[in-house]
Amino acid sequence: MLNKLKQKFNNQVIELVSFVTLLLFISIHMAYLILFLSMKCYFMAYFNVGSIIFYLIMILFQRKRFYGAISYLTMLEIDAHMVAGCIYLGFETGFPLCIVGLPSLICAVGYFSMKERHKFKVIPSCILQLVIFIGLYCYSNNFEPQQVLSSGWRITLVMIHTVITFTFIVGFLIALVMYALVLEDKILKDSRTDKLTALPNRKALEEFYDKIKDNRKDYILAICDIDNFKSFNDKNGHLCGDYVLKEIARISKEKLEEDFICRWGGEEFVILSRITDSYDDAIEKLDSVRHGIEVHNFKYYRKNLKSTITMGAQSYEDGIDLDEWIRLADSKLYNGKKNGKNQLVS
Ligand code: GH3
Ligand code: MG
Ligand code: MG
Repeated sequence: MLNKLKQKFNNQVIELVSFVTLLLFISIHMAYLILFLSMKCYFMAYFNVGSIIFYLIMILFQRKRFYGAISYLTMLEIDAHMVAGCIYLGFETGFPLCIVGLPSLICAVGYFSMKERHKFKVIPSCILQLVIFIGLYCYSNNFEPQQVLSSGWRITLVMIHTVITFTFIVGFLIALVMYALVLEDKILKDSRTDKLTALPNRKALEEFYDKIKDNRKDYILAICDIDNFKSFNDKNGHLCGDYVLKEIARISKEKLEEDFICRWGGEEFVILSRITDSYDDAIEKLDSVRHGIEVHNFKYYRKNLKSTITMGAQSYEDGIDLDEWIRLADSKLYNGKKNGKNQLVS
């Protein structure tokens, strides 16, 4: 469910939500129009014709992305409709209920408008609803409605307004909660991903290390460092260096589909490779990454380039923490660098 929503809630979420909401409002007013004609309440029927025209104009505004104007005008239209209904047909018809439901829409609009840096005033708009509700209550205690409805029609209107209000409150709250969940998920994922290589980062490594706490003995930790990368950058430029980093990440990921690989630092990667058969097989699999990079032709614009990595691999020893495990692997990496680079030391 969350994944499906993730695809739908993209950058155009505001456009989609506002468009669907406007269409919904047009449908509601069409239903109202039929209802008021059946009740022979022509004043409210004309009012609804006006509302339908109003929302059609709002769709034009929506195309031009005038979200601030749409938000305020829509709120005022709903208020005007509810005030007219209440004065014309009475407080007991449930029109004021919609005013109670309106703050959920106001909060949803406020949230999206804040994201877009429009300044939609949420609190004053909610206070306006409170004032209108109390005003209508006081008015209905002192004045009779213009048209007296049969109790059947009154009950029908109350039912309709209860359903509309309930749908408003629940619908917009659910939309906000879902949106927050999707956003939270994306933020969490981004915070554990390296931007350049799209590999997991150190934070993700720490989490993976915690996750395998009961079977760390089944893993080999390898630290990889690109050889002579500084001079590579100096000769070919940093953008070319970035390209090589991305390519090395891609090749390593391809070779180690089942294993965890993260960008540890600048041009260093850490792998946690699961020993599925024997230790030697696992080391061979790790070395296939080194070999894959050695034989790969890096093509950057018209240049054909070569790069190599050195790896230090260390199996788990009882009682060591992640830092110690990395330190042991790093000292093997250091030996590899000292002994000519482009090799795996285990
Ligand atoms: P060695 O073989 O001993 O590892 O030599 P080296 O030149 O690779 O090692 P050194 O640590 O001196 O240099 C690492 C270089 O990696 C320095 C830095 O410019 C480069 N580097 C680190 N992060 C990035 C990055 O994100 N993009 C690019 N293009 N270069 C990076
Ligand atoms: Mg380094
Ligand atoms: Mg290096």
